[in-house]
Amino acid sequence: MIPGARLVLLGRQGAGKGTQCTRLSRHYVVPHISTGDILRAAVREGTEFGKKAKELMDAGELLPDDVIVGIIDERLDRDDTRTRGFILDGFPRTTTQAEELLRITMPRGIDLAVNLDVPRDMVLARLASRRVCADCGTNYSTDEPPKYGMTCDVCGGDVIHREDDTEEAITRRLDLYERETQPLIAWFEERKMIVTVDGLGHPDEVTDRLVRIIDKHREPGR
Ligand code: AMP
Repeated sequence: MIPGARLVLLGRQGAGKGTQCTRLSRHYVVPHISTGDILRAAVREGTEFGKKAKELMDAGELLPDDVIVGIIDERLDRDDTRTRGFILDGFPRTTTQAEELLRITMPRGIDLAVNLDVPRDMVLARLASRRVCADCGTNYSTDEPPKYGMTCDVCGGDVIHREDDTEEAITRRLDLYERETQPLIAWFEERKMIVTVDGLGHPDEVTDRLVRIIDKHREPGR
């Protein structure tokens, strides 16, 4: 049986985290847990919480650490993650969230955090042309749209232009990433828990690179 995995994927918005997490989730047969997807689902349900989350998300701001940690704490307590592990996408985003993650996952912790590296000027162009399925989160772009109109090839959902993928919100989110999330990379480095992987190139090549590095770090007796 394929062993599970306990992974964190970090990287700028538009670095291809969503795409690679979906692929890694199939490869290692573990749930892909995206805080952004969980929040967007709450927004679609129109709950009070969803309405508040939407305001912050549309403005490109982060939600409070305690709220996000609560969501992750609950999700990591389910059977699938307990037995197989997880791939975290979009969490942690601050050092407080990272400290909480290690607390929640004690005593096993995580296998590895991966920094999927794509330079800022490259992700700006990618984000402006990004389109995404509102139901399953599959990513498309204006250059590679779905086969039939704006209907998702994978699940038949509506493919949309995210409201936080406007130029203003993109700039804000990238600035926030430099300020809040970049220090996380140093935080994981100090604990020897992170590797940086080049995120440029065809998605297949990037997946191969990721799997090679993850497998190397999961070798017994590392
Ligand atoms: P994403 O799809 O990962 O880009 O997330 C979309 C938005 O959800 C972000 O811009 C934040 O407003 C919010 N969000 C997602 N994950 C987190 C997190 N770990 N901490 C705080 N806010 C988050």
